[in-house]
Amino acid sequence: MKKITILGSTGSIGRSALSVIQKNPSLFKVVALVANNNVSLMRKQCELFSPDLVVMKDKKSANILRKQIKDRKIKTHVLSGKKAICELASLKEIDLVISAIVGIAGLLPTLSAIKAGKTILLANKESLVTCGLIFMQALSSSKAKIIPIDSEHNAIFQVLPEYVQKNLGIANLNKNGIKSIILTASGGPFYEDKKKNLSFVTPSEVCSHPNWSMGKKISVDSATMINKGFEYVEAKWLFNASCSEINILIHPESIIHSMVEYIDGAILAQLSVPDMKVAISYAMSWPNRISSGASFLNFKKLNSLTFFEPNFKQFPCLKLVLDAFSEGQAAMTVLNAVNEVTVSAFLNSKISFNKIAEINTDILMSSSFLEPYSIEEIIEIDMRTRIKSEKKIQSLIS
Ligand code: NDP
Repeated sequence: MKKITILGSTGSIGRSALSVIQKNPSLFKVVALVANNNVSLMRKQCELFSPDLVVMKDKKSANILRKQIKDRKIKTHVLSGKKAICELASLKEIDLVISAIVGIAGLLPTLSAIKAGKTILLANKESLVTCGLIFMQALSSSKAKIIPIDSEHNAIFQVLPEYVQKNLGIANLNKNGIKSIILTASGGPFYEDKKKNLSFVTPSEVCSHPNWSMGKKISVDSATMINKGFEYVEAKWLFNASCSEINILIHPESIIHSMVEYIDGAILAQLSVPDMKVAISYAMSWPNRISSGASFLNFKKLNSLTFFEPNFKQFPCLKLVLDAFSEGQAAMTVLNAVNEVTVSAFLNSKISFNKIAEINTDILMSSSFLEPYSIEEIIEIDMRTRIKSEKKIQSLIS
């Protein structure tokens, strides 16, 4: 029985992971759960899974949960704060850590799990976006293993040769017969309607993804396609790929979740209905397979599978990531930070959807930091960029 910590258990990925566990109760034991402030859902998760430990990052939420749990005679011990989250990510008795906190908040707990030599099922792409090299160096100097959960990276992982699967981030793609990685992208909710005036779209329209059901932040990131840029960076680090070894292809049906092109001309793809439980269950059971609870693909009901080149004019945020990545880590960390601030401002109806790309570009272009070589330097860049981005938004709305 594998013992699990889930970082971000109340989110979209965390809930799907728990549903896979419910389907396979003899294979997994939930030891620890982490969330920010969603007390009512965490209480239900405690009732259902009886974890030994829970951290609510928010102290007030932890106090409320502690009382509710005591009243219900549940034995879970409740903690709070960032330090406690890192401790739960590195508990001695844990085999697997599901890293599914949203944003850079997931970075330190994920690094803590790496240092403790855990197997990390990685959904939190922002860890690699904000500090790719440091992250990969920490990984190579520990016993930790990464298995990607992000559907594209998980799809690629599924069709890679076993040697590359076992040596992620180190194995040379070409020497293992691989010509390129093809990352597919849905194009988000507005891809088909190229003439739509995006100044007036509402957060709920943006979060209504045509194929996937996801958390709010990644839904907005999918609509701007900055998410695909972040995935490009994630793929670069995870698969030790050069820029010319990764291609992005829009595939609005979200049936092919990504592909690997081999040097003999063969292409291996992973297909399924768009349901994260497929990727999560594979990561949890690798190298075996278990029942995920997702429905099965019915080819007779598929109309067609279509593919298009991404258009940078339609998706300026995608181009922004590729430019920032070629500039270096400082630029990527800046872009992630300003994007977290602008997405949150959009979700809180402070700025329009179009302003996300505009402010992201402005802050990226007007920032200049030395390349970071430590986590402390990464966090400093992140913090200073957030302050600058908040000020910019304030100046626009006041
Ligand atoms: P959600 O917004 O649905 O969930 C986020 C989770 O993180 C919640 O449990 C939330 O707790 C918790 N959280 C937020 N901030 C903090 C914090 N400061 N400290 C501790 N916990 C915190 O996000 P998703 O599940 O959609 O995404 C999670 C990650 O997975 C992201 O990095 C995303 O890019 C990635 N991902 C998601 C996919 C998806 O389909 N959803 C697909 C591929 C990757 P609370 O509920 O209490 O706020």
